[in-house]
Amino acid sequence: HAKQAGNQHWRFFSGEMEATTQNRVRLLTELRSALNQGKGLELHYQPQVASDSHALVGCEALIRWVKASGEAISPDVFIPLAEYTGMIVDIGDWVLREACRQIVRWDALGVPGFRVGINISAAQFREPDFVAKTARIILESGVAPSRLELEITESVAMEDPVSVAHQLRELKALGLRVAVDDFGCGFSSLGSLNRLPFDRIKIDRAFVAELTPETREDCIATMIVKLAKSLGLDVIAEGVETDQQARLLDEMGCGEMQGFLYARPMRAGELEKWIACSAPASQ
Ligand code: C2E
Ligand code: MG
Ligand code: MG
Ligand code: MG
Repeated sequence: HAKQAGNQHWRFFSGEMEATTQNRVRLLTELRSALNQGKGLELHYQPQVASDSHALVGCEALIRWVKASGEAISPDVFIPLAEYTGMIVDIGDWVLREACRQIVRWDALGVPGFRVGINISAAQFREPDFVAKTARIILESGVAPSRLELEITESVAMEDPVSVAHQLRELKALGLRVAVDDFGCGFSSLGSLNRLPFDRIKIDRAFVAELTPETREDCIATMIVKLAKSLGLDVIAEGVETDQQARLLDEMGCGEMQGFLYARPMRAGELEKWIACSAPASQ
């Protein structure tokens, strides 16, 4: 009887997995045609603000995919799939070109020149021609490299610190800024972070979420802010949702913030309106 139950369980599980595999294959096919046809993919932009003045200091470009059926697929679903199959390399090229095109357009409109953060996946970063191709795309776009900040997750940075350090130095020599994303999850050693020439640390939102007046003394966010200061790096908190989190982060010296408390990721046109509304009233 026990064996039978076990088999049933296994059959059920296996059937579910097959369905999931089919869904993944279908999703990837649809993603490929969205990319090839230039339909359904969009970049949204989430403001990053100074902790004291709430002035806009930059924004992060975040990819969005809405299928022809109208169904939105989260990047947490399709980016890992695209990473697994290598399609992320083409998606990454599209993201960089699209962000550069948008910056050129904002410049033409006279929008103040804030910095734009671009997420770079592990699979992109590992491509031997990543730096050369990135340089070419930016050069072709006419965008000043200093307008862009590449975000690389902590896990990627720690995979192979020696070659990552080399690539980061090349990217910085081009004039790009580099940030370590989702920091705090990967248990980096102090020494390895010190050897990597990052400009900024992005505190993962999990550590912002656990920040309270009771935990402030010994929580990870506090330690990361101290670490950033001791290394002379800029630091930004991700996923700031409440006034209390913002106040605690400001008090501990976290200079910049990003989160739903300030603004959600939005289309370029909405961001233009947001900037116009949030700008200090003209004298
Ligand atoms: P990430 O780079 O850590 O981006 C921050 C994520 O946190 C975004 O999710 C953003 O919408 C979300 N977020 C921002 N503020 C808050 C908040 O206050 N509360 C909560 N709960 N969430 C907040 P999103 O847009 O769904 O992106 C998820 C992940 O997908 C990103 O994490 C990044 O790893 C990846 N991703 C997004 N766009 C790209 C892209 O263009 N290229 C690559 N390679 N990966 C991307
Ligand atoms: Mg990011
Ligand atoms: Mg992040
Ligand atoms: Mg993330």
